[in-house]
Amino acid sequence: MNDGICSQNVACRMNLNNFLFSGFKFSGGEDLLQFKFKMLNSIFITVAFFSALFGVLSDLGINDIGPIHSKVNYVYSFLTIMLIFFLRQSKKNYDLTAHALLIISLLTFTSALIFVPQDEFRMIWFYLLIYVAYMIHDRKSGIFYTLASIIIILTVNFFIELQLSYVAINSSIFGLLIGSFLSYTYTNKITNYENSLKQQNTSLSVLASTDYLTGIMNKRMFNDISEHYFQTAQKNHFHLTLLLLDLDHFKKVNDTYGHQAGDQLLKRFVKKLVRILNKSDIFARIGGEEFAILLSQINSNDAYILAEKIRKEIENDFITYEGQDIFVTTSIGISENKETDTEFKNIFSRADIALYQAKNEGRNKTCYIEFSNDDVHCPNPKKDNEVLNYSI
Ligand code: GH3
Ligand code: MG
Ligand code: MG
Repeated sequence: MNDGICSQNVACRMNLNNFLFSGFKFSGGEDLLQFKFKMLNSIFITVAFFSALFGVLSDLGINDIGPIHSKVNYVYSFLTIMLIFFLRQSKKNYDLTAHALLIISLLTFTSALIFVPQDEFRMIWFYLLIYVAYMIHDRKSGIFYTLASIIIILTVNFFIELQLSYVAINSSIFGLLIGSFLSYTYTNKITNYENSLKQQNTSLSVLASTDYLTGIMNKRMFNDISEHYFQTAQKNHFHLTLLLLDLDHFKKVNDTYGHQAGDQLLKRFVKKLVRILNKSDIFARIGGEEFAILLSQINSNDAYILAEKIRKEIENDFITYEGQDIFVTTSIGISENKETDTEFKNIFSRADIALYQAKNEGRNKTCYIEFSNDDVHCPNPKKDNEVLNYSI
């Protein structure tokens, strides 16, 4: 039956989660923070409800905690509800909110210590405080609130008779220390576990985005990043130019010298290009002997100068494998973004056409797509001394 508020279980759970996460979304790497938000909001609700209840029960004469502490409980409840709203303002408010809860709790429990002498078990609230400090915050907070609790208990006992035996106070303090030590050990383990999990995740994502042979970005990562670069370039009206490179007759290299030699050549090619390119250029291996270079804020004319520099350097380079010098050349296709492009694929397809033309024109060539009319141009290579330096 529809209860008018939460007609379906799923909707109820979504509302509850929205409340417990303070309305925020959490990424994969924020598991622990997400849990802490859940805990903190659960604690807020529990505290707000029970402290108000203690106040009401006392005012009704059912559970007398005295008029002063009863009012303190109402304030405690009110402040806790305020903290729920404060936390919803920004994820960054978490630390401050957690500290605020711990401090007002410490003050409230101190009030219980002073104003509710008829409660022999009022020290129990400090145990909860310490445990919560470790759980919602960190080890430093845990230690701080352990020491603060002990100092407050001893100080209050010094100035106001707590009406507890000397042995009871000693036991309470030892209990607090032991509880704190256990929570510390546990929190330590969880923190170390979380850190090592984060490290493993980082290594895994590096592995997943890196080409195993050459160490540069792989196709998967390139696909993700290129679309992002494309969107940014279109939005801000930046030039974005793509170079597609394909090594010429690479199959022949493998057939003649062996696959190992081919691998060496691929590594050498990448090393050479890494030296030529700027750090901010995107360089990826997108196929066996196919590579992509994505240049942000560079038009196809400047990209052509770079491409020619690369082509000539590769042409003149070689590796020596088992006593034999092996040369390779590369064909390059270039295209830049246009206002009318809707996805990165548009640039890619044009660059691919230019690359195809470079192969057709005999390889070891650079071709580009004319910006104004999409014609393919494959200028005759200039002499070495005519190739300008690429330094942008
Ligand atoms: P084209 O000039 O038309 O590009 O000719 P090609 O021989 O380079 O092109 P094709 O696509 O026919 O062959 C590409 C070759 O690249 C075939 C494959 O064996 C080789 N290759 C792909 N990945 C690797 C690799 O990781 N290591 C080695 N050694 N060779 C690879
Ligand atoms: Mg190929
Ligand atoms: Mg090839």
